[in-house]
Amino acid sequence: MSAAEIKAVGVIGAGQMGNGIAHVAALAGLSVALVDSNPEALPKALATMAKNMDRQVSKGGLSAEAKDAALARIRTGTEMALLADCDIVIEAATEREAVKLAIFKAVCAVLKPEAILASNTSSIPITRLAAATDRPERFIGMHFMNPVPVMKLVEIIRGIATSDATFEAVAALAETLGKTTAVAQDYPAFIVNRILVPMINEAVQSLQEGVGDVRSIDAALKLGANHPMGPLELGDFIGLDTCLAIMRVLHEGMGDSKYRPSPLLVKYVEAGWLGRKTGKGFYDYSQTPPKPTR
Ligand code: NAD
Repeated sequence: MSAAEIKAVGVIGAGQMGNGIAHVAALAGLSVALVDSNPEALPKALATMAKNMDRQVSKGGLSAEAKDAALARIRTGTEMALLADCDIVIEAATEREAVKLAIFKAVCAVLKPEAILASNTSSIPITRLAAATDRPERFIGMHFMNPVPVMKLVEIIRGIATSDATFEAVAALAETLGKTTAVAQDYPAFIVNRILVPMINEAVQSLQEGVGDVRSIDAALKLGANHPMGPLELGDFIGLDTCLAIMRVLHEGMGDSKYRPSPLLVKYVEAGWLGRKTGKGFYDYSQTPPKPTR
């Protein structure tokens, strides 16, 4: 499958990442099949895409006709059979290995033999996922950033068996989607999260040790290192459960105590204070402006 032959893209998982991937693929003129096991997720994803495209229209970056045409290119459903004609399927379902393995088993049964299978996993080894499919040479990591329509990067991760043709097709597809690629080797958490999430963890550890309070730590990195968001604010945006899961992958995968999750991060996750998505993390989002919780 070469890049030029990729006309139909399947996306599995219609959550925050899946709807973003479907959004950029449809705007790039590709036909999109979006599958989620939860039927309620599908109309929600379509509404999110319409709202996000409306924002692009109001900013002048997109015509109303192009928006309508893009939305008309998206089919949705709960059955993997919808993906039978796809040239590439990008899996963006819940970050649990057992969930992804069950998905790959089901999708490989309906997929064309020449189709490429990609995973948007943030942290599960690509080689291990590939080995559970019938096509390790046509399996690859395609790690989009959140929010997908806005963020320019796609990390591409080759598994040990990924073919050059698969790599080239996926790199070209990322460009068609308007993205710039960074190539990462298949080591725990790849490039972005390997560097970013330990920084967030260190910010939480600094908070725990009383080096600074929430406001000081975020102000220090925003104004002192020119980061657009402070590390605690960013942790809340990503989801503190996701940050903790990535630290655990790094800790286990590297066997190095420097990746030890901060006990305070564990405590926030145990409290269910997961950040923006639950309304409370290092900030309480029920107040405007959000109020630090420590
Ligand atoms: P999410 O919880 O918003 O969405 C996951 C979706 O997968 C849900 O709609 C769920 O119903 C669906 N799903 C679960 N099991 C399924 C199945 N068996 N078949 C079909 N659909 C199923 O999660 P998300 O934040 O969109 O993350 C999805 C993937 O993207 C994860 O692998 C995550 O690590 C990765 N990722 C997330 C981010 C981020 O910032 N959120 C960034 C990059 C990559």
